[in-house]
Amino acid sequence: MATSSVPPSPATVFVMPPLVPCPHSTALPPITAYDELVSVIVGQQKKVFRIHKGVLSYHSSYFAAALEGQFKEGNTGVVELEDDEVEVFHAFYCWIYTRRLRDPLSSPLHKDALPQNSAETTLSDLLLCKIYIFGDMRGIPGLQNNALDALHKNILLSWRTLSASIVNYVYSNTVEKSQLRCFIVQLNISGYHDLCEFVEKRLKKDRNNYPMDFVIDILQIISTKDKSGAWPRVKHLQETWAKLDRCEFHDHSGPGGALRKAPGNGPTSA
Ligand SMILES: [Zn+2]
Repeated sequence: MATSSVPPSPATVFVMPPLVPCPHSTALPPITAYDELVSVIVGQQKKVFRIHKGVLSYHSSYFAAALEGQFKEGNTGVVELEDDEVEVFHAFYCWIYTRRLRDPLSSPLHKDALPQNSAETTLSDLLLCKIYIFGDMRGIPGLQNNALDALHKNILLSWRTLSASIVNYVYSNTVEKSQLRCFIVQLNISGYHDLCEFVEKRLKKDRNNYPMDFVIDILQIISTKDKSGAWPRVKHLQETWAKLDRCEFHDHSGPGGALRKAPGNGPTSA
């Protein structure tokens, strides 16, 4: 796996195969969810998003509790998220109405709006990690799954590993056993031929920026996969990664808010 962008030779050009979609994608909310509008005020800029209350509550356990519980937000119809980023919330805002984080390049609407292959069509790796973490904090499993799938596709397209600063950000904002952590660890194991190469090319290069928990996770997973402690050898890395079963890292518990409202009776899948 490259750590900087080097144009591949024609013999090594990777053709992206169709990626297997998750069979448990989040179901749309019921029509009754498109009811009154509430305001969500985001960030230091105090950007106001007007969103259907029922849609927010359907997708997110956090918003369901805030808007349908005994909190003041339920009476005022206003939720303030001072510490969240507008860009992250905007991605969530688009997702709850489209269940997409970006338009497909094949979309005719997209073709009219942007040049083909425009960088604007791709969300950055860091932004996708932030969207995943936002979904984790606000109880939105479907958003987390889509962010992780988009990150997987980003990595396949660019075929470079995540930077130390992104790894650090993820480990600073997730808990132990986070599926995003598991995904990143799996990526690093697959991206290097052995432990020596990983240490030389990753850890020593930027040793002060990798969290110790990340190194521990790497060591734990290789000792779990092979009791001898051998590094799992993977052939045809990019092709192998394209076939990754992303559901291994997904949360299929269904829409966070809908599940919260009907404990024990909520959907287990869409
Ligand atoms: Zn899945």
